[in-house]
Amino acid sequence: MPLIANNPNRKSWLNVPKDSDFPIQNIPFGVFITKDDVVTIGTRIGDNAIDLGALQQLNYFEGIELTDDMFMQDTLNDFISDGKKTWRLVRNRIAELFDINNAKLKDNEAHREVVIFNIEDVEMQLPVLIGDYTDFYSSKEHATNVGMMFRDPENALLPNWLHLPVGYHGRSSTIVPSGIPVHRPLGQTLPNGESKPVFGPSKLVDFELEMAFITTDANVMGETIPVEEAEEHIFGLVLFNDWSARDIQKWEYVPLGPFLAKNFASSMSPWIVTLDALEPFRTKGPEQDPQPMEYLQQQGEHAFDIKLQVAIEPEDSEETIVSNSNFKYMYWSMSQQLAHHTINGCRINSGDLMGSGTISGPTPDSFGSMLELSWGGKNPVKLNDGSERKFINDGDTVIMRGHCENDTIRIGFGEVCSKLLPPFIKHK
Ligand code: CA
Repeated sequence: MPLIANNPNRKSWLNVPKDSDFPIQNIPFGVFITKDDVVTIGTRIGDNAIDLGALQQLNYFEGIELTDDMFMQDTLNDFISDGKKTWRLVRNRIAELFDINNAKLKDNEAHREVVIFNIEDVEMQLPVLIGDYTDFYSSKEHATNVGMMFRDPENALLPNWLHLPVGYHGRSSTIVPSGIPVHRPLGQTLPNGESKPVFGPSKLVDFELEMAFITTDANVMGETIPVEEAEEHIFGLVLFNDWSARDIQKWEYVPLGPFLAKNFASSMSPWIVTLDALEPFRTKGPEQDPQPMEYLQQQGEHAFDIKLQVAIEPEDSEETIVSNSNFKYMYWSMSQQLAHHTINGCRINSGDLMGSGTISGPTPDSFGSMLELSWGGKNPVKLNDGSERKFINDGDTVIMRGHCENDTIRIGFGEVCSKLLPPFIKHK
């Protein structure tokens, strides 16, 4: 199935602002509510939200085998279940429909009116019903930095880290789309130098700069996914802010790992950019030494060159960019993560979400969390308004952005942006 949707020379009859993350070569998938309160699956070109349910009703997907209500649903799970062949046929058809040389929809004003909305006039939803959420820990720089601070600078990486993609099972119930504010969590912490824990609001709320991939139904229980087939089961990627409470984490994580410090909120960008759209931005990942075991060995390029950025915007003030990282720094590839995840026969479903783990680069300005940027609070980060941050303050908005670019195109994710609110208080 050729990826004609990726043709870098194609132009759309829809306006695409310069430096937009959403040229006609992107064609991401999401779910939105229109002004008339209709929930639909959609895509985006420039600042236009396109209603795929309306397009399907108007027969623009004729010839592609789809169930009648495929795009009139409130999640992408069924579409993702249909598999890569269907994703490609649909992206290719959308590319053709909005091609500058195709007048079919362009010249039909009545159809355009029910299909195309201004992005400002729709409300983005969570694009998939996330059954299971797994979070990896696959940036060597991040794992090393955290190991140095939490444990032992001499032996920062634990002995298993270079042999397998370390991960844990999170919760999907508190994953929210961009724009939804998040409350500072309450919990137990052990103050420095004390022997008894105390209870109260976390004092060390942090972001984690991550990307996450969304899977299709990849296997049956007991079946493993070979590393070289893993990408067939990856629908696409989103930006992911995996909010964390470092003081709660430090006290609770022994011996079973992350729990309440991690599951109070994770925020994701609303448009799933397909792995197909990212094809031109493949690159080689870091050299792996020692060589991984056979079931994790892979040939070719399986990392993706995605520039990532984090900004903090205090209440009533301008934003400050605090980190510039890149998805290509990940030591373990998504294919290796998925192959490892299923090596024991664990079942993967359509709409499962796999977080990369915090993506830190090699230099201090590319670290993916405040824990690392302020080095455990020792070196506060200066913001443009003159204030300083060791961690995130109430009222701060954390914004993450990501895009790929080469000489001809730019494919982006938009942003995931969420504000930290004071602890939740139930009004009586
Ligand atoms: Ca995480």
